[in-house]
Amino acid sequence: MQGLKGWLIEQTLGVHHRIVYGLVGGLLLCLWGFVGFWSWWERSSTLAANEQVLKQLNTAVHEQTRNLFKEAQTSLTIASLWMAEHPDQDPGKAPGFIRLVENLRNASDKLIDIRMVTRDGTLRYVPDRGQTNRTNVADRDYFQAQFKEQTRGLYVAKPVVSRVTGKLGIPISIPVTRAGGDIAVLFAAIELDRIAGNFEAERIQPRGTIAILRDDGLFMFRSPMDDKIIGSSVAQSPMWRQHMGNKPGGFYHSELSPVDGRSRAVAYTRVQDYPLVVAVTASIEDLLADWRLHTGLLVLVALLISGFSVLLGSILLRTLKREELARHELERLMLTDALTGIGNRRMLELRLDDEILRAQRYRRALTAVYFDLDHFKQVNDKYGHDVGDTVLRQVADSLVANLRQSDHVARMGGEEFVTLLTETGLDDAVTLVERMRAAVTALKIPGLPQHITISAGLAQWREGETAETLLRRADRALYRAKASGRNSAFTDLEA
Ligand code: GH3
Ligand code: MG
Ligand code: MG
Repeated sequence: MQGLKGWLIEQTLGVHHRIVYGLVGGLLLCLWGFVGFWSWWERSSTLAANEQVLKQLNTAVHEQTRNLFKEAQTSLTIASLWMAEHPDQDPGKAPGFIRLVENLRNASDKLIDIRMVTRDGTLRYVPDRGQTNRTNVADRDYFQAQFKEQTRGLYVAKPVVSRVTGKLGIPISIPVTRAGGDIAVLFAAIELDRIAGNFEAERIQPRGTIAILRDDGLFMFRSPMDDKIIGSSVAQSPMWRQHMGNKPGGFYHSELSPVDGRSRAVAYTRVQDYPLVVAVTASIEDLLADWRLHTGLLVLVALLISGFSVLLGSILLRTLKREELARHELERLMLTDALTGIGNRRMLELRLDDEILRAQRYRRALTAVYFDLDHFKQVNDKYGHDVGDTVLRQVADSLVANLRQSDHVARMGGEEFVTLLTETGLDDAVTLVERMRAAVTALKIPGLPQHITISAGLAQWREGETAETLLRRADRALYRAKASGRNSAFTDLEA
């Protein structure tokens, strides 16, 4: 009986647990789903917006770079044209040429300075101030390139520190075919620290970069300026092989930059008409700084809400459990006989209804037994009510001890008990009842010098019979047992 009740409590609590778990779980799922979605959404829209910004900046840098090289090329062309038209004049000394170069320099904001190299590699300035301090540049690639078939023509050379100004610049050279003064090569140097200011202002702060590379992977320029990077080659890096080295332009996210090991977003494009690639980058870390902050805050808030929900859920569960236990305890008390601790009449009626349904459905036998102590009034009268109570308790214990797990016993009131023997026909029930009666008779009760006896009436449930008539038939059989001299068991068939 206790087992069944415990099971019922577990069942009801199980339902409550599931509801609370479902509610809290659902809330947490929604909450974290929202956090995940929002975070993903903000991250992707940040990166998408950045892609647009980088592409626009890349276009602007491309235009500036192209214009710069075009301007240098134009200046060189103009200078070489003058030379071709005045082959009899030494350009280093001709006032017309000196003026022309001066004007070109001023027009380019002193960015582009034109210098000449003679056939044997001697550098000559404009104007030429004589033989002192002449420098030989025959080893420079901008000079040598003009004497090789594959590179002759407009040549963008590796950045070098000028032997004249001491500054880092990109030399651009052209060959000269017709000129006075033995001039063979003209070149203009784009001074990097002069263009650095513009690009430094344009790049995405704090860790974005702007770079100009030659189409063989050589770093020509980089903002922020870094002398170690300029002149180095990225030709062997995956970045170059996968992207810039092959394609006309594009956008990608690099896991690790070959230059500084950072993860970057990169927009790049080949420069029209020149063997150059421009690339602008932004550090993913910088781009996502706000996103990281927002997500961190959101996760914190979600954690707080989660903790609060779990706390609330567990309080709710505990309260529900307490109430449920209280309700079940009340129910148990209502169905229990206070003196003996076994079930009372109400409990028996409930069980009997259940068992009749079961017997009906599964076509099983069911037998009800009415017990009544013999001459119990005398026990009370002779030995006192307390002894009587002890007798009732011990008889109840004895009946319980002799029943099977699936049977039921209840005190119906006074000294009357009823047992329900499930799946038991009348013959087996008689055997069982005789054993129970023998056990009661064998009881030794403190304060009671004599043995007590008990009478029983049995009735087997009949198809379609109600609980009431079944009990009445058992009671009638008991009456027969009493009438026939007590200390015996009668079935209702022995009427
Ligand atoms: P019979 O053999 O015909 O059954 O005789 P009886 O004396 O047992 O029957 P009766 O119905 O005349 O007496 C029942 C007695 O049970 C009356 C009462 O004193 C006693 N009784 C009823 N309830 C209690 C109880 O809770 N405690 C005690 N000690 N006695 C009780
Ligand atoms: Mg009685
Ligand atoms: Mg009696």
